[in-house]
Amino acid sequence: METYNQTTDKLNHTQNHRFFRDDEFWRSIPGWQSITSDQFGDYRWQLKNSIASIDKIKELLKHRISDQILEDCKRAFDLFPIDLRITPYIFSLIDWDNPIDDPLRRQFLPLASQFQKNHPFVLKDSLFEEADSPINHLVHRYPDKVLFLALGKCPLYCSYCTRSRLIGGSSRNGRKQSISPGLSDFETMFDYIRSHNQIEDVVISGGDVSLLSSDLIRLIGKTLLDIDHIRRIRYATKSLAVLPMKILSDDDWFRALIEMNEMGRKRDKQVCIHTHFSSPCEISEWSPQAAERFFREGMIVRNQTVFQQGVNTRIDVMGLLIKQLGYMNVQPYYVFLLDMVPGIEHLRTTLRDAAEMEKSMRGLTSGFNIPDFACDLPTGGGKQHVSSYDYYNEETGISVWRSPAVKPGKAFFYFDPVHRLSFDAQQRWKDDKQRILMLREALSHGSPDLNPDPLYGVLV
Ligand SMILES: *Cc1c(COP(=O)(O)O)cnc(C)c1O
Repeated sequence: METYNQTTDKLNHTQNHRFFRDDEFWRSIPGWQSITSDQFGDYRWQLKNSIASIDKIKELLKHRISDQILEDCKRAFDLFPIDLRITPYIFSLIDWDNPIDDPLRRQFLPLASQFQKNHPFVLKDSLFEEADSPINHLVHRYPDKVLFLALGKCPLYCSYCTRSRLIGGSSRNGRKQSISPGLSDFETMFDYIRSHNQIEDVVISGGDVSLLSSDLIRLIGKTLLDIDHIRRIRYATKSLAVLPMKILSDDDWFRALIEMNEMGRKRDKQVCIHTHFSSPCEISEWSPQAAERFFREGMIVRNQTVFQQGVNTRIDVMGLLIKQLGYMNVQPYYVFLLDMVPGIEHLRTTLRDAAEMEKSMRGLTSGFNIPDFACDLPTGGGKQHVSSYDYYNEETGISVWRSPAVKPGKAFFYFDPVHRLSFDAQQRWKDDKQRILMLREALSHGSPDLNPDPLYGVLV
């Protein structure tokens, strides 16, 4: 992991967490030199001008991007499962003088030259969401909370998307199913929730709620709040980080969320927003303004970050992000290790990196603004604190976990990226027999009484 004092000039302008850049940064994009602040601040302009092809990148950047980088982007499409879509807001916050190391470029525009071979245990549905879906579009893994997949669209695609099997159209790596529930699907989902009295909490996600119509926001919110046993609902949107203009300029959509919040409060129920910042470079003056608009209406906003190599693995960068979020009245809730899906090995970190980072963040600011660092366990164990594993062998990169509240009878594994292991360990990972021996060894130390999923081939 990079160390504290490797601070680059690039971040110096944001070292102060109370300072948010308010320049017309998009005008440095040759194609947008004459775009005014009013145009740029209109969410419709943002959506219409999203970047969804390499040709568009070339057209906008002209001489500011080299043919070599363009070629690198093009080749990435054959290797990574997710399609390209970037909002103009994020596109113009990328440092095009140094795109290789830019944390936003890294997250949303993969380069073939940075590709690392997939870990042998990556799965398209690493979290086993399908196995935990009693009906379509509803994941019921935990006793009292459900994940309600309301749509399959996002204003921007993250290369590391945990649902890349469903989100982002169909890339060259295969056609995808999509999440596109109709009204009758919603009825079935509501019926399921109504008939399961233990459910108190609904996460409305997908996809990104910023692309859900205000009518559907109201319909879903009202129907859920009408169910007696529902006590908490959350709408999930990355728009604060990647399309703050949506919050600031789509009044009907914003009002729909606020109405749900007010309706909830009258019934002593919580309605909040969950958002997704991962880098201080995503934060400009537009972000605190958007956050403030929610705050003034009494809407709680919480943040979930994804811990990614070269994006937020430096202590000063993570510290700045957490302080900025707190300053904006956005509560840092989680920092997640990456889910083990295809095409993200170059972004993954070790479990040790995450545990060390959490330790470095403790005490930095108000305790309620220190996020939990968590690992959502492959094969459906749910979210566990990064230090709560039963066993962790840093030589083989294997950690063993249990999840008593979610799947009491099962053992779980998480794996550090193979390219971060010693040469010897990397050789062992190449050999099927050695791999099973390593898993058996870890299991015998961690949860000798429990079995992991049969896919690992190491039943005790
Ligand atoms: C993350 C998640 C939730 C919500 O979990 P919290 O820890 O309460 O944020 C609910 N259901 C599923 C399937 C999830 O993955």
